[in-house]
Amino acid sequence: MICYNCKKEIDETDNYCRFCGAGQGSHMPWYYQMWGVWVLLFIIGPFCLWFLYKSPSKNKKAKIINAVLLTIVSALLCYQFYVAVKRVNDFYSSLLSGSLF
Ligand SMILES: [Zn+2]
Repeated sequence: MICYNCKKEIDETDNYCRFCGAGQGSHMPWYYQMWGVWVLLFIIGPFCLWFLYKSPSKNKKAKIINAVLLTIVSALLCYQFYVAVKRVNDFYSSLLSGSLF
């Protein structure tokens, strides 16, 4: 087995790299795990795709499926954010023009 971080040979049973200390498999940092990338979606939005791309996870198929789903959900979130900002903007515009009362 090769460490994803330092590319050195490590034992199959190692949970952490004996050279650089990077967690392996289920001991990877949370932001490189699939659930962590989904948590990041709600914190940094579409930029979470970068962590999915950098994730050393070996499961290419799951990565592609998650990338597609993350793109769709982040597009929907961006659209909802746009609608919310537009609504607030329209509200204040009508307040300023005095057409509300
Ligand atoms: Zn290492």
